[in-house]
Amino acid sequence: MKITSAEFVASAVKAANYPAGELAEVALAGRSNVGKSSLLNKVVNRKALARTSNTPGRTRLINFFLINGQFHLVDLPGYGYARVSASERENWGKMIESYLTGRKNLKGILLLIDSRHPPTAQDIQVFGWFKDNGIPVAVVATKADKMSRSKLLRSMQTIRKELPLAGEDMLTPFSAETGQGREELLSIIEQWVNI
Ligand code: GDP
Repeated sequence: MKITSAEFVASAVKAANYPAGELAEVALAGRSNVGKSSLLNKVVNRKALARTSNTPGRTRLINFFLINGQFHLVDLPGYGYARVSASERENWGKMIESYLTGRKNLKGILLLIDSRHPPTAQDIQVFGWFKDNGIPVAVVATKADKMSRSKLLRSMQTIRKELPLAGEDMLTPFSAETGQGREELLSIIEQWVNI
């Protein structure tokens, strides 16, 4: 798939504010600072479509982007930021839960895990939650350029074991610096949105 256009369409907290219509959606999830904005920008070939920020936890809304006029990429707010209060965490949970359980357009989720660290308890929890809700998930090991090849392989094994991934579950190393993994993610997205 070639990306020909990418534009921001809406930010939402509540279902009432999600874009109307039937367009298929692929969501991106991961803890704050995992590299979600960088991945989104790289995948759609745009420098600043999703704000890349060094202030984790700032983006607390669900952001919808229209790609090629054909489907949405949906940036879910990052989780696991240490300095948020319990009530903010609860709001995050409610916002995500209503999106995941109520959104018929949702075809799959890319779950981003930082390849330099083992999955966090929350990574494991959200992975289980996606699976329990029957949502197709592909895991992306981010910042792959920061690791040697052998360390990256070991890290992928750790991710597989700890989430845990089943044999058929997809796991893709990705780098927003080098573009490694971009084509693979585009083909996963293409299959999910069926265009
Ligand atoms: P987000 O909070 O998940 O949206 O994370 P960002 O995309 O803002 O990235 C967090 C930090 O990691 C920024 O300093 C990025 O420049 C850096 N980063 C993100 N992806 C990569 C990558 O693939 N390689 C490298 N070397 N750094 C990355």
